[in-house]
Amino acid sequence: MNKKRLILVGATGSIGRQTLEAVASFPGRFEVVALAAGRNARALLDAARAWPEARLCLADPHTEPDAAEAASDAIVYRGEAGLDTLIRDTEADLVVNGAAGAAGLVPSLAALESGKDLALANKESVVMAFGLLKTAAEKHGRAIIPIDSEHAALFQLVRRIGVDEIEELCITASGGAFRDRPLADLASVRPDEAAAHPNWQMGRKISIDSATMANKGLEVIEAARLFGFTPDRVKVLIHPQSLVHALVRARDASLYANISEADMRIPILNALSWPESLASPFGRLELAGRSLEFRAVDPARYPLLGLAYEALAHGEGATVAYNAADEVAVAAFERGELGFLGIARVVEATLRAPWPRHLATLTEVRAADHEARRRAASAVKEL
Ligand code: MG
Repeated sequence: MNKKRLILVGATGSIGRQTLEAVASFPGRFEVVALAAGRNARALLDAARAWPEARLCLADPHTEPDAAEAASDAIVYRGEAGLDTLIRDTEADLVVNGAAGAAGLVPSLAALESGKDLALANKESVVMAFGLLKTAAEKHGRAIIPIDSEHAALFQLVRRIGVDEIEELCITASGGAFRDRPLADLASVRPDEAAAHPNWQMGRKISIDSATMANKGLEVIEAARLFGFTPDRVKVLIHPQSLVHALVRARDASLYANISEADMRIPILNALSWPESLASPFGRLELAGRSLEFRAVDPARYPLLGLAYEALAHGEGATVAYNAADEVAVAAFERGELGFLGIARVVEATLRAPWPRHLATLTEVRAADHEARRRAASAVKEL
């Protein structure tokens, strides 16, 4: 059997490391032909040790000084343009995109436009430019396979049950670090507390986004677009154990759930092997002795979730603005320039501008993103 050739973007992050683990547990099945990281040259070279033939890229131009020498001449591709070229020029079957934030958009587009399948952990790509991704995927007959745990779960449920049988989608949320904190305490919580996610080991920004539920907001947008459901047919349920990742309600009123341990290697392996499936060595869940609990979301505790539905209803410009404003606000919170509750206020203020319903080109997406960051930065100063 031919090995499936993979390009891994975000190789040194949480998704990237777990992808390399999943690949290593099926020797002979996959071949990593290129690896890209943001700025950590040392970690990239470490990751590349098992794949000496792989092409390497550092996508962030601000490389750490001591790492620059360690990089020597092994890292040929540099910067966002280098990453774009690497993906387009390297022969591969699948691009795994585990990049963080808006930086994930360029590699997603490059993958589909150069005729490769896209295994997508970067939800910002969908939130910012799903229209462009979909057009590219259809033109080249390629698939977008979600890796985000809830969407990977929905992907499995939808393909098994059939989209026409499904009335609504439901994604679960842990509720983040402050799920059980008194509301009155939230004004004074610190970034380190917000970044302590109860169930998943993830990057810092996404853990803070779990505490505000901006992450779930982005995921609602992602689910609606990936599966073609209107906002009112996408629901969110708090589930503190993070064992049920998503549910679908069928027309006959049955609920179907996707349940497994909270182990990202399961959705990663499913995405790597799609459309086949492999027997997973990861995270087999025994339900005996476990309890599953569900609660409704309190809108007063998580205003960023409601704002995501508003942005989704308003269109593509507004969802770009939602994402950009949240990135700016979380960075300001991390620097101590903004309180935790200020994050939602910055996003709300940014969404008030008249954002376009449709963004037809990458240039338009970038312009909306830029404008939203400018507005969000001035909202941070005014709060
Ligand atoms: Mg998720």
